[in-house]
Amino acid sequence: MGKFELKGKTIVRLETVEAKGRWSARLDRGQKLTLVDLKGHQAIDFLCFSATMPLDRINLPNTVKLNKSLYITKGSKIYSDHAQVMMSVVEDTCGFHDTLAGCCSCEIDRVRYGVEKHESCRTNFIAELAGWALGPSEIVSNINFFMRVPFDDSGKIEIADSVSKPGDYVTLVAEMPVIVVISNCPQTDNPAAGFAPTPVEVSIWE
Ligand SMILES: [Zn+2]
Repeated sequence: MGKFELKGKTIVRLETVEAKGRWSARLDRGQKLTLVDLKGHQAIDFLCFSATMPLDRINLPNTVKLNKSLYITKGSKIYSDHAQVMMSVVEDTCGFHDTLAGCCSCEIDRVRYGVEKHESCRTNFIAELAGWALGPSEIVSNINFFMRVPFDDSGKIEIADSVSKPGDYVTLVAEMPVIVVISNCPQTDNPAAGFAPTPVEVSIWE
């Protein structure tokens, strides 16, 4: 599928990521990425890497410190290990997105829920990163779009019910050439995906 015009935008890619699925793409500087939570209450685990500078990738401590916020929303910037701006959030209808909880894995679900699984955001990331010749050691703390992890003054946190509604979306612009990697969270044992994972829509546009 080539580029096409839609509502005044030039669409480079427009795809639905199935429930529990995964996706990745390279964006040139200036291209935009929109993630749509089609059904609501669906966490999208998100990593990004510099497409031109080896070993520079999303760094959430840098992102939190430089944004002065534990939440990602409109106006937030995503910073790299080298404190470079990788992407900026230019639209957000949800309000805030998590930087604390990282991705789910079969290992932590065995510990916290006593279940044996074969699917998780970590297994999704491992599979998707392999296509870019990146190994499991490249999985670092990620953003969880549409996931709500409140915290209180004592430091207590929890994965809470998401506030994202059907059709909520977030748009990021690439501030450098990046590779973005997404896991459409397959979690069924906590509210990250509303206990019932659903599809999401991704698009790259100019
Ligand atoms: Zn997950």
